[in-house]
Amino acid sequence: MKEFDYIIIGGGCAGLSLAYELQINEKLKDKTLAIIELRTEYKKDKTWSFWKVADHNFDDCVKKNWENFSVNISKKTNHLECASYPYQSIDSGLFYKKINKQLKENKNISFFKDINEINSKNSFIFNSVPFIKKDYQNLWQHFCGVEIETKTNFFDDEIFNLMDFDCEQRESVHFFYTLPYSKTKALVETTWLSKMNDSSQKDYDRQIKDYIENHLNLKNYKITYKEEGAIPLFYPTYEKEKNKINIGTAGGMTRLSTGYTFLNIQEHSKYICQNIENISNTKKFEISKKYQYLDNIFLKVLDKNPKMMPDIFFKMFKSSPKTVIKFLSNKSNFFEDLSIILKMPKLTFIKALFY
Ligand SMILES: Cc1cc2nc3c(=O)[nH]c(=O)nc-3n(C[C@H](O)[C@H](O)[C@H](O)COP(=O)(O)OP(=O)(O)OC[C@H]3O[C@@H](n4cnc5c(N)ncnc54)[C@H](O)[C@@H]3O)c2cc1C
Repeated sequence: MKEFDYIIIGGGCAGLSLAYELQINEKLKDKTLAIIELRTEYKKDKTWSFWKVADHNFDDCVKKNWENFSVNISKKTNHLECASYPYQSIDSGLFYKKINKQLKENKNISFFKDINEINSKNSFIFNSVPFIKKDYQNLWQHFCGVEIETKTNFFDDEIFNLMDFDCEQRESVHFFYTLPYSKTKALVETTWLSKMNDSSQKDYDRQIKDYIENHLNLKNYKITYKEEGAIPLFYPTYEKEKNKINIGTAGGMTRLSTGYTFLNIQEHSKYICQNIENISNTKKFEISKKYQYLDNIFLKVLDKNPKMMPDIFFKMFKSSPKTVIKFLSNKSNFFEDLSIILKMPKLTFIKALFY
């Protein structure tokens, strides 16, 4: 059986980002790489959005940048500006196409469906397939989004809506998220932060139809694309092994309070690439302990006080947008953290320290 220097298990966002990073930095000229991926064809299946607080390799896969956004609660709207860190949406279809085209050019890179097709004994493995235990105590961000098209101009594509809490909460945390790609096209997403034992929240189609038709007051539109997903708001477990590193969601690259993962994956890929020659002895890359600690408290508050969350999010955005964006994107300094923390209801958060 064939042997490879490196194996990437899972050719999704993290696996392909890492392979691409290694390829463009010429780390695979004299080394071989096997990518183990189950899917038979790559097509658009996700839209990755984030505030651009760091450079990445995929500016040419960006569908749209925004410099303004809004947050809504109880008919109040907070308009915010984000010109210094524009919000970007990446089309996964373009991302897969770009990377796969580049990887095909290198004869040292091969794709397989199953790791048992090769000899993995002496390889260094990057694993992006998470092991997730079915535990109903864990919180998830689960959502469904549709891209819609209208015949006449309807959307203001200069501003996107990050969170609209003016929708049924059902004793949980629920909001809509709207990304207007143009005046006639938008992604409208229903998002829940909850435990997954409650399937009653999964009537996504009905929620989206009701929001578009009765909240946005849009009657004539057609759905052109749909995506559904669930992001774990906890770290998947894995066993430490000398010749293996977990990457992507499996490697703890999700910011637990927000679900944002894409840019962390890009930073992790760059880190691995810089240290690839000595990867077995390189310090683990992780989201800083400060954010892990603060997110843990935040999620405890969310779990115990779902009704307070729309107000808590709204209050958070009373800080300067730049501060909030840096905080949510793991780039804030001590004073910026403090400015956010001081906006939070103190007693509720102090109580959460003791749950
Ligand atoms: C619909 C959706 C939208 C998201 N939107 C955003 C966003 O806007 N912003 C953001 O920052 N994050 C977002 N995320 C979170 C995160 O960025 C994505 O989940 C991202 O794809 C994670 O990358 P990954 O490589 O860890 O997992 P994936 O991209 O899911 O890659 C895992 C790969 O492993 C393959 N695989 C699975 N099992 C096996 C196996 N046994 N053997 C071999 N291969 C296997 C899968 O086919 C897949 O290709 C979103 C997640 C989802 C689900």
